Amino acid sequence: TIRAQSSSVPEYVPDAKFYKVEAILRPWRVSHVSSIEKDSRDFKLGTLLLELALLKIGIRGVTVFDVRGFGAQGGSKERHGGSEFSEDNFVAKVKMEIVVSKDQVEAVIEKVKGEAWTGEIGDGKIFLVPVADVIRVRTGERGEKAERMTGGLSDMTVSA
Ligand code: ATP
Ligand code: GLN
Repeated sequence: TIRAQSSSVPEYVPDAKFYKVEAILRPWRVSHVSSIEKDSRDFKLGTLLLELALLKIGIRGVTVFDVRGFGAQGGSKERHGGSEFSEDNFVAKVKMEIVVSKDQVEAVIEKVKGEAWTGEIGDGKIFLVPVADVIRVRTGERGEKAERMTGGLSDMTVSA
């Protein structure tokens, strides 16, 4: 079981019942998950591994996008040149969106950080977005009922 964290969300974050953790991370390496050493420098990030790590802490709902981005890692050449960004300077990234209740936010952020970190430029960023409501299309449920998933983190959590 996992102990409930009383809301450790920083005080500058607008209050909401649900939040979207939006993480832009290194893209996945499709191959050889079984042979991957988590702390091997060579292994940038398996989103698959991250999904497994999230599954282990009861996160069942995740949306993943293939994106291309521009940050400290990409495009320093263009900045110096002062010219337009050329398309091929965008770096391939993966965006994961995970909507969770407030008390689950910090656990998800910690898990994502722990799995995605290499210490090299390009590890990515996590954005936290307040979410006003959740609606499950199949049942019409809203709010907490819609956000909860069978076998999810709240089922695994005992109140502290
Ligand atoms: P049902 O019980 O009706 O199957 P569900 O709650 O399991 O509903 P799905 O309909 O399976 O939800 O979800 C559809 C898609 O919505 C998922 O494939 C995923 O991309 C996205 N999704 C669901 N829940 C979340 C969540 N909490 N955070 C981010 N994405 C989610
Ligand atoms: N908060 C949900 C639960 O505890 C899980 C949400 C998610 O998997 N994104 O059931």
